[in-house]
Amino acid sequence: MWIDSHCHLDSEQFDSDREAVIERALAAGVDKMVAIGTGDGPPDLETGIRLAESHAAMYATVGVHPHDAAKATAETYRHLAELLRHPKVVALGEIGLDYHYDFSPREVQRDVFVEQMRIARDAGKPIVIHTREAWEDTMALLERHWAPAGRPGIMHCFSGGPAEAERCIALGFYLSFGGMVTFPKALEVQQAARTAPADRILVETDAPYLAPVPRRGKRNEPAFVVDTAKKLAELRGVMLEEIAASTSANFQRIVA
Ligand SMILES: [Zn+2]
Ligand SMILES: [Zn+2]
Repeated sequence: MWIDSHCHLDSEQFDSDREAVIERALAAGVDKMVAIGTGDGPPDLETGIRLAESHAAMYATVGVHPHDAAKATAETYRHLAELLRHPKVVALGEIGLDYHYDFSPREVQRDVFVEQMRIARDAGKPIVIHTREAWEDTMALLERHWAPAGRPGIMHCFSGGPAEAERCIALGFYLSFGGMVTFPKALEVQQAARTAPADRILVETDAPYLAPVPRRGKRNEPAFVVDTAKKLAELRGVMLEEIAASTSANFQRIVA
């Protein structure tokens, strides 16, 4: 019924009760979860795959997060290309630019982002984008290096307004809404959630981060994706079932 398109279940925050968290997700109707496989960065690229291999409901991504860009080597790229052929790996990500933390030099972040777009294009896989305080550079690189591939992508934890949404959609992207859309002051992203085409929306938790209202400030987990979906249904004036149907169908289309 629900697909959490983005969670970090490898996080040590789940070490004491990971199986119970997954059980609660299944009980809440979350029948697919995408374990983002960026972990602590290279050389370990298989944190998501390990979860996907041990749980039927879990799928995985592989990729180098912008935070870890400085750790990427030629061997990293070779290994990523190989892991993209794993049957449960649905996308390359999360990749992009993070100028808020600047954990890796910006120039390195851009190079590693571009290189990973090339790998995803060659593999025919979608990408999952993380962008923070780097909007223009992210969009310029996507327009130049990803748009020509004619492949879809996911804007994870979409935090822009209607204008940013429109630009993403024009590029063939899907908007993945997370807990932020439930925050009372997030008026811009709520407006985007209200008006985005039904065939371009997804829901995610980004667990353990960014828990939606009414659990804001707590550890997030995939079962809570339903709270975000309820907010989307309210904003869009549709039944919850409609959000479930469209977000699930959209996800299947991206990874098909
Ligand atoms: Zn992210
Ligand atoms: Zn993430």
